[in-house]
Amino acid sequence: MAGIYVHIPFCKSKCRYCDFTSFPDKLCLAESYMACVYREMAMRKSELESKTFDTLYIGGGTPSVIDEQYIAMLVAAAKRNFRLSEGAEITVEINPGTISQKKVDLYKKCGINRFSVGLQTAVDSQLRDLGRIHTLNEFITCARLLKGENFSVDVMIGLKGQTIDDILKTIDVAAAFGASHISMYALSPEDGTPIYTDYLNGELPDSDEVAQMYAAGCEKLKSLGFERYEVSNFAKDGKRSRHNLNYWKRGEYIGFGVSASSFINGVRFTDTFDLDEYFKCILSGALPVISSEKIAGDDIKDEYIMLALRTSDGIERAEYKALFGKDFCDEFSAQLQKVGIYLDISADRIRIKDQYLFVQNSIIVEFLSK
Ligand code: SF4
Repeated sequence: MAGIYVHIPFCKSKCRYCDFTSFPDKLCLAESYMACVYREMAMRKSELESKTFDTLYIGGGTPSVIDEQYIAMLVAAAKRNFRLSEGAEITVEINPGTISQKKVDLYKKCGINRFSVGLQTAVDSQLRDLGRIHTLNEFITCARLLKGENFSVDVMIGLKGQTIDDILKTIDVAAAFGASHISMYALSPEDGTPIYTDYLNGELPDSDEVAQMYAAGCEKLKSLGFERYEVSNFAKDGKRSRHNLNYWKRGEYIGFGVSASSFINGVRFTDTFDLDEYFKCILSGALPVISSEKIAGDDIKDEYIMLALRTSDGIERAEYKALFGKDFCDEFSAQLQKVGIYLDISADRIRIKDQYLFVQNSIIVEFLSK
């Protein structure tokens, strides 16, 4: 299995916490940018003809801010250049402030069968504080347009002034309006973003408070029938994101567009983050790759362990043995002594205990430290 990711780097305005590659003032370049993305796909066509892709994920930025025709042409370009499996999962990210019936209709018509909606919080004052362009009411309108569709909702925790009740309300709203999948992320205040000043001023919840928010959110999601399958991702039965599961399974994926990353034939590589550079490369017939690294030796194992331990399924011992030729518990007996109290170890798998999944990063770092 392999996936395709396409990055659409345009937004209406920049959110206060955003450090993604997204440009709030360059929407006029959307047509030429998309033409370059279609061309980049064509440039990769022959190299990837032996692969079958099971997912296409259109992310950003805000894909729903550009004309829906470009998205339809993008799906067509993916199908023209690559072999997509029958029933491939095709997702587009939607900002509730940039959606309409016309857009949803064309998305569905061109084959998009999954939607990822950025709500973040159901409290309007918090949305304003984050710099989001939409209100709760616009989310509700968006969810009504997606009625009966398979859609995911993003929920953020750790916001300034946020209470546990705010989080439970946000989850309730997302579930009540039909979300089949919820991603619940903690706000990460990145240096260089406006929200970092709030963090330095001590205005954001501390890590203990965020952990309590996460625990309460998990309980709520469980009570509504959402099963956690990765630290931040919760799905109704059969609605796990195949695209993300592929990342955590160390599956292959190809990325198109500025800042998109890829993992193909054991090599990880990334497209330029610079929009002008991206245009220059594509228009001169060159691939816009700025860095690449062959993953080899122990790094393969480390990646596999790091990714698998993020998921509720954890490491399958039989799969590990098939891939690396050794029993996981024999090979890592010393590490298991170090962090064993955080793990469930059974005959068929090793996974981080539910109550520690939120701090999986430090457990994994400890596990992998030599
Ligand atoms: S909508 Fe998303 S990508 Fe755009 S500025 Fe906000 S957080 Fe960043």
